Amino acid sequence: MARGKVYIIGAGPGDWELITVKGLNRIKEADVIIYDFLASKDLLQFAKEKAKVICCGKADGLHILEQSEINRLLFRFAKRGNIVARLKGGDPLVFSRGIEEAVYLKNKGIDFEIVQGVTSAFSAPESFGIPLTRKGRYSSIAVLTGRKSNKDQLDAPDCDTLIYLMAVANINNVIKTLLGSGRGKNTPCAFIERGTTKDERIITGTIENIVSKAQKYQVRPPAVFIVGEVVKYAQRS
Ligand code: SAH
Repeated sequence: MARGKVYIIGAGPGDWELITVKGLNRIKEADVIIYDFLASKDLLQFAKEKAKVICCGKADGLHILEQSEINRLLFRFAKRGNIVARLKGGDPLVFSRGIEEAVYLKNKGIDFEIVQGVTSAFSAPESFGIPLTRKGRYSSIAVLTGRKSNKDQLDAPDCDTLIYLMAVANINNVIKTLLGSGRGKNTPCAFIERGTTKDERIITGTIENIVSKAQKYQVRPPAVFIVGEVVKYAQRS
């Protein structure tokens, strides 16, 4: 029996064309595709006719399959000699559990490979013309989680540009953290919802008014929250 292998693939942020050539080639070869809800479903058109396709996450963030079940599925299919494409939104190792899957497979003696992806952290702001750096002006970026339940665990390091993922539900605490870090109320910031997809939206504002704007425009996940002067370059806002 041929040896199976798992490819842990970044599907990109939403626009399916933002997957890498390597990622697309592995999808075309795969016997089994196991995908998260954030991975563009348009990519499934490239699956082999006989490929088994399994969805393991829902749009509201609830999981159809627990992580331990996903790990076991990957193992079982690869053990039987299948080429498995594990499709994850954005980059598979940025705020994602790709590394847990990799470690599990490694411990089980299964071959795996990471196929990098375009992360939403960078591509969602860029989709609206927001640069993450600019020579001579803005030279540092931090990518952070906005999800920690205890606001004392949130970070706002001293960088020109801060990019929070998973911040929609916890935006009040993120704002408190930003103010606590000494940022002024007029600091520009923005939510970018469904970046790079046909439904993408940007809501720009300041640290002072972004919460009310997010409520007014009903910002929903998936959205990136970006803070810093670079937001001034945003187009279509
Ligand atoms: N590995 C992914 C991140 C997964 S965490 C990546 O590299 O992009 C899930 C969070 O990613 C969401 O809560 C949201 O903050 C962000 N996200 C994913 N896709 C997005 C998109 N198309 N537009 C805006 N934010 C997105």
